[in-house]
This record gives sequence, structure tokens and C-alpha cells, in this order.
Amino acid sequence: MKAAVLHGFKTPLSLEEVARPEAGADDVLIEIEVCGVCHSDLHVADGDWTQLAGIVKKPLILGHEIVGRVIERGAAVQSVMVGERVGVPWVQWTCGQCEFCLEGNENVCLKQRITGVMVDGGYAEYVKAPASHVVKIPDTLSSEQAAPLLCAGVTVHRALKQAKIRAGQRLAVFGVGGLGHIAVQIGRAAGAEVTAIDISEEKLALAKSLGATRTLNAATSKVVKEIRSTGGVHVALVTSASKSAYDMAFPCVRPTGTLLAVGLPAQDIAFPAIFMAAGEIQIKASSVGTREDLREVLAMGAAGKVHCQVSTRPLAEIQEVLGQLSRGEISGRVALRLQQ
Ligand code: NAD
Ligand code: ZN
Ligand code: ZN
Repeated sequence: MKAAVLHGFKTPLSLEEVARPEAGADDVLIEIEVCGVCHSDLHVADGDWTQLAGIVKKPLILGHEIVGRVIERGAAVQSVMVGERVGVPWVQWTCGQCEFCLEGNENVCLKQRITGVMVDGGYAEYVKAPASHVVKIPDTLSSEQAAPLLCAGVTVHRALKQAKIRAGQRLAVFGVGGLGHIAVQIGRAAGAEVTAIDISEEKLALAKSLGATRTLNAATSKVVKEIRSTGGVHVALVTSASKSAYDMAFPCVRPTGTLLAVGLPAQDIAFPAIFMAAGEIQIKASSVGTREDLREVLAMGAAGKVHCQVSTRPLAEIQEVLGQLSRGEISGRVALRLQQ
């Protein structure tokens, strides 16, 4: 099968013919239709997260927003049928037995396997995945619309759920990329007043069209002053991969409010303890989502509450897509199309 393969950090992916994976007894084999290109793929390819370097498979096929059809199932599989359209998310498998799995937080399972990091992902024509952890795609949702929900969508859905965002609250979304453009919509759907912050006018225009009431360009305006002049926000969701977005977001949170850490810059982030304590600011981090979170966000997509801005590109253009993503030139999400 054709695949784009990572052989070493910071080296271009190579387009190769590789062996098609073989499904084990508990797996399904999936013919991939589309796979979203997430900024996390770029972090992995560049070796940004040094703490994770040891778990990255080599050589590796990246990609964790996979949608395709089941073409084979292992002998023990009963929950999924051949011909069904399914998604494979970041969390490829969890143990079901550790205390986090048992508490309903399988997204932080200690033994989890990560798609496109620890096992091969979706920049390829086929992928295998445990049947227990693939999610069914609602019939009314196109594969292009479903793919970004499998990481970008589920991540911001869970994060905003954790912050208990509700009608009448003020939400600021820092970074209106793949994750952020969905967060703006979920915030609006919850009845929050949304301010979107980015450094690109094109992305701010997209945020406005998706329901943001105020947009601020972090490169040209005084974001902190503007947001504080209207009382600060109940929730600041940082979906930018830039540390400077965190530095800007923290002072925008009103006392008792929440800073949601979702974007993953390579550098450490830090906040002044005196202001954290004085304002009883809550710092909450959020990691992708559980299978339940996935079903919820896919249902929101199927109901038309969330609409992703997606453009599709052939696998052969992956290196160009990653370059554009790193330069901030992609609005919404790009999904690779694996079938003609
Ligand atoms: P993206 O590149 O599509 O979007 C990032 C956006 O941030 C872009 O629109 C960019 O213009 C904007 N930006 C850059 N600098 C900024 C600044 N200083 N202020 C405001 N905006 C700025 O990326 P994405 O796919 O949406 O991913 C975003 C981040 O989220 C990445 O770090 C990714 O690894 C991380 N992520 C985390 C989780 C999780 O579970 N916590 C899940 C998925 C992705
Ligand atoms: Zn992702
Ligand atoms: Zn577990």
C-alpha cells in the first residue's frame, strides 16, 4: 500500500510502498477514505515533545483523524461489521482496567496506545485498529466532516465540557486553527459570548463567520487590555501551539475563571502564583477524549451543530501541507484523501 513514512525527526516524510497491515483476532482492517492533518502530527514529526520521544515508533506512519470502511475483521470481532464506516482516533487502545479507565477517564489510561505515534496511523491506504476502540460514523455525516471531529473536535468538546461552559459566560479562544474553529462553534452552541484571538486576519474572519462576537489580532492589538476592559473571561481556551498565546491568555481570565490548556508548545508554560491565588484562577488541562466524548461530538456534527471547514488534498501533497500548517497558512483543517 502507499504510505507517507517518517524515518527520523525533522526529516521529510517519504512516500513509499509498504506492506499492508494484517488484522489480528481483535482488530479490524480499514480501507482509509480520509485522514485529517493535525498540528500534533507536526509536533511528532519535528520531535517537539522531547518527553515523548521515547515512545515514538520508527519508522512511523502519522495521522490520527482516520475515517474509512472496514474491509476485514479478526476472528474474535463481533461489534463491527465488514462494510461499516468507522473512525480511528488518537487513543487507539486503552486497558479498561487501570483506575483511570475504571473511573471513566480512559483518555488518560496509563497503558494507552496512541495512533500515529506508538502505532501506525492514517497517512496510508489502510490501517488496522482494535475493533473495541473504533467509533461508528453517523450515516448523515460525510467522511470529510467526520475526520476533524476525531481529534480537533473531541478535544475542544471535552475541554469545554470540563470547564462547564454555559450560556451567558464569556469565552476566549486563543488560536482559531483546526481545534479553535470548532471551539468557537461549540462555545456559541452553549450560549457563550465568544472572543476569538489569532494572528491571521483570514482565521479571524472565519471565526466571525462561525459566530464569534469579537475577534482580536494578537499581532496588532492589545488583547489583554481589550479583554480585561470588558471584565475578563470565564474561560480562556488556548488551542494555539505558541507559548506566547498562554502568556496572553492567563491575564485575560477573570477571578474564579478557568484557563484551559490544550495547545501543546514545546516550551514549558508558567503563570504567576500570586495572581493565580488572588483570583482563584483554575488551570485545567485536557487530553483528547473518551469514546463517549467522541460519540457526543460526532452526534453534534451529524445534527449540524458543528461544521468543520475542511479541504481535501492527495497523500502525495503531505509534505507541502505540513509546511503550510507550520507557517499557519491553513484555515480550518486539511484532510488527506486516500481514495480517488
Ligand atoms: P493549527 O495550526 O490548525 O491552529 C493553531 C492556530 O493558532 C493557528 O490558527 C495559528 O494562526 C494560531 N496562532 C499561532 N500563534 C498564535 C498566537 N500567538 N496567538 C493566537 N493564535 C496563534 O493547529 P491545531 O491542529 O488546531 O492544533 C493546535 C494545538 O493543539 C497543537 O499544539 C496540537 O498539538 C494541540 N492539540 C492538543 C490536543 C490535546 O489533547 N490537548 C489534541 C489535539 C491537538
Ligand atoms: Zn490531533
Ligand atoms: Zn487503562
